[in-house]
Amino acid sequence: MGEFERAAFRYLTLGGMGCAGVVFITLFFIPAPYGRYTRTGWGPRINSSLAWVVMESFAVGVLPACFFLSAGMKTGTASLFVILWEIHYVHRTCIFPLRRHKPGRTMPIVIVGSAVAFNVFNGYLNGRYLGVYADLYTGAWLLDPRFLAGTGLFLTGLVVNIHSDEILLRLRRSGETGYKIPYGGLYRWISCPNYLGELLEWTGWAVATWSLPGLVFALWTAANLVPRAYAHHRWYHAYFSSYPPDRKALFPYVF
Ligand code: NDP
Repeated sequence: MGEFERAAFRYLTLGGMGCAGVVFITLFFIPAPYGRYTRTGWGPRINSSLAWVVMESFAVGVLPACFFLSAGMKTGTASLFVILWEIHYVHRTCIFPLRRHKPGRTMPIVIVGSAVAFNVFNGYLNGRYLGVYADLYTGAWLLDPRFLAGTGLFLTGLVVNIHSDEILLRLRRSGETGYKIPYGGLYRWISCPNYLGELLEWTGWAVATWSLPGLVFALWTAANLVPRAYAHHRWYHAYFSSYPPDRKALFPYVF
């Protein structure tokens, strides 16, 4: 990495943290206009399943491209991180959109564009860091407590995320469009275990890679999902009079 890119990388990392803080506060007041918050006034739109494929495919492509095109030596441990990333994003791009049952649902192009920017930004920061500093991740890192705890957290989050999304996706039969109260799994305690799973994944990634780009991505994920979980939780209470009163939004017994 040359001097210019090193400086740019530092500013992007710090700037990314600052932007995550602004997004976190903003989304408490203005929920991103997709899914149950779909509303007019956000410009042209495209089919939402197609939107998921388009925006997440950038995450599938950018991180490995930045990793493999970087000049550093590619250790097996660093490549393992690329595999973990790909497991999450190939599922999100190729399987999740096909499992959705909502004919006619659309998403504003502005949301697709911001998600593409988010994925390019985080894919570049994380892929470039792993590619350039791959030699930090030797075989010994596999036994480091940070790697073990972080990878354990990532895999736990992956299972929670996919399982919880799956419960939601099974609430609708083909052609159905409405919302129902989800039960089962972590829905017993919280309204948005899919978001909790996603947060665990990227927190685990930050710990396992022990990197600033990993931390930036975890903060951005929290900035997107904590306000949305709060909005979903309030929406469920407003929409269903029989909504389980003891359920929290995102963290069991806490929030
Ligand atoms: P939601 O929980 O809002 O919705 C997931 C899917 O389930 C949608 O197809 C939704 O339909 C459907 N659904 C949700 N609730 C119900 C219900 N009560 N009854 C019937 N169907 C329901 O998640 P998002 O769409 O916001 O996110 C999808 C995935 O993407 C999640 O795993 C999330 O973690 C991840 N994500 C990650 C982000 C990050 O920053 N890393 C940012 C945003 C999402 P409909 O679309 O019609 O509402």
